[in-house]
Amino acid sequence: MKAKLDRSGCISCGLCTQICPDVFRMGDDGIAEVYREDVPKDMEGIAVEAQEGCPVSVITVD
Ligand code: SF4
Repeated sequence: MKAKLDRSGCISCGLCTQICPDVFRMGDDGIAEVYREDVPKDMEGIAVEAQEGCPVSVITVD
């Protein structure tokens, strides 16, 4: 699975970084970013949870 995030639409709520901090983090500019594009097998479930929880649907995990 690969994680992608359209930073231009992120509203900096921080949810994805709380749910799945091994894949998403807040960048220095306060916008979330993917720092582990290849999602480890044991984190796929929570990465999908982050995708589903993002209020502006800018995360794609597939
Ligand atoms: S959950 Fe969505 S809006 Fe919130 S920080 Fe993550 S990418 Fe940004």
